[in-house]
Amino acid sequence: MTARPTYTADVIVVGSGPGGATAARALSRDGKKVLILERGRDYRDTVYYGTYLGALIYTEKMSFLYTQEGLNIIAPIMLGGATSMYCGCAAPPPAWLKDRYGVNIDREVAETITELNIQPLPEALRGEASTRIAQAAGALGYDWYPQPKFMDPRRSVALNKKFKCHATTMLGCRCGAKWNAAEWVDEAVQNGAELKTSARVSRVLIEDGQAVGVEGHIRGRKFTARAETVILAAGGLGSPRILQNSGLKDAGVGMAMDTTVMVYGFSSQNGTGNEPPMTWSWENDDVGYMLSTLTDPFLLYPMIAIRKGIGPALRWAQWHKMMGVMIKLKDDISGNLYPDGRISKGLTATDREKQNHAYDLCQKILVEAGARRSSIFMSPLRGTHPSGTVRIGEMLDTNLQSETRGLYVCDAGVFPESLDRPTVLSIIGLGKRLAAHLVGKR
Ligand SMILES: Cc1cc2nc3c(=O)[nH]c(=O)nc-3n(C[C@H](O)[C@H](O)[C@H](O)COP(=O)(O)OP(=O)(O)OC[C@H]3O[C@@H](n4cnc5c(N)ncnc54)[C@H](O)[C@@H]3O)c2cc1C
Repeated sequence: MTARPTYTADVIVVGSGPGGATAARALSRDGKKVLILERGRDYRDTVYYGTYLGALIYTEKMSFLYTQEGLNIIAPIMLGGATSMYCGCAAPPPAWLKDRYGVNIDREVAETITELNIQPLPEALRGEASTRIAQAAGALGYDWYPQPKFMDPRRSVALNKKFKCHATTMLGCRCGAKWNAAEWVDEAVQNGAELKTSARVSRVLIEDGQAVGVEGHIRGRKFTARAETVILAAGGLGSPRILQNSGLKDAGVGMAMDTTVMVYGFSSQNGTGNEPPMTWSWENDDVGYMLSTLTDPFLLYPMIAIRKGIGPALRWAQWHKMMGVMIKLKDDISGNLYPDGRISKGLTATDREKQNHAYDLCQKILVEAGARRSSIFMSPLRGTHPSGTVRIGEMLDTNLQSETRGLYVCDAGVFPESLDRPTVLSIIGLGKRLAAHLVGKR
């Protein structure tokens, strides 16, 4: 029998979404020997990357991952994590992260905004129907803003590619206009980091309260990796699962999801379906929700709408006339990620009140934008931001270290509350800050 492979490094980074990719890039730049272990594969050069088929292939349970309460969770498993499928929106961290929890990532976020040229899409790409919705909201006294993006048509040109997606891509950007965390993994590898894909970490090895490595499987074969610093960046679901297997039982007790629904209304004019997602947004920090322009992609719409009944599903034929507004709730920390894989997460009474508030407002805005009131309906619950499962202040200190020395978490799981806004910019900020801390620069 061949011996089980054993790898060694200064730092092991588990997961290659924005948290893992950022930390790995920064640490490898500083001369650390970094080993990146990623459960998924690099699908960027496959023919189905960016297609509906791709979106099914590289998401957990082919996107049919549901909580016991029926909330649908989309969790991409591939190099770059969920940035392979995100809408490319960027939002600064909420003030409460610094004020209530003492985590200041302002400097790192400002640096990232400059480095990635984060800004709203040019006016011509914001979409006619999306802009109509923002103007209707404005007429009612709600001042929507053009959503800053990790998307820049000039990035395609710099990569010698044609800007083909016109910023409408949601399932994976093939022309490079949208930043993907996998690019920073590429950089880490150029700096000397070692990358293992199809490497699923199952647990952290701990000796006398100190992390000494991890254990898992690469393409079905068991492996061990050794390092005195382990950064779990396996996402809001992945990291707590690993921690539970490692004996940290509080991981996954309670979570946030920035629980999301779409509100759709139909008019005789063109809708938001063929337009870039989330070009205009607005936040209600007093009640706790965010609104943004968005319609589900054409082939995914019927799969989602059928859960609301045959009427909404039949509206598929009028998909191009449909205007969509997304509600993202600042949901309570609630529910449970059980060690056997089951997930419990629904809406609390407070979440429901926020949702009703947001739905009333969406109806008014859509009617003002030209939708027939009778055509308006709300989609089933969805969670695209599994987070708050390994919270700062409870399981982690402000430097993201757990009760086990050398064991850090750096992903959406660390948020102590629901962000109810795009997460990626804040996660990058945390990754940069953690890397600086580990090399003694912060
Ligand atoms: C459809 C969609 C649209 C979104 N749009 C936006 C947006 O516009 N703006 C925004 O800011 N956010 C958006 N988000 C959310 C955002 O992409 C995620 O919150 C963010 O990527 C989370 O980063 P992360 O580092 O925590 O983990 P992830 O990005 O989830 O990455 C975790 C990585 O860990 C790997 N992994 C998991 N388990 C293991 C294991 N056991 N061993 C090894 N590797 C493992 C996974 O394969 C994955 O690559 C969107 C999400 C989705 C799904």
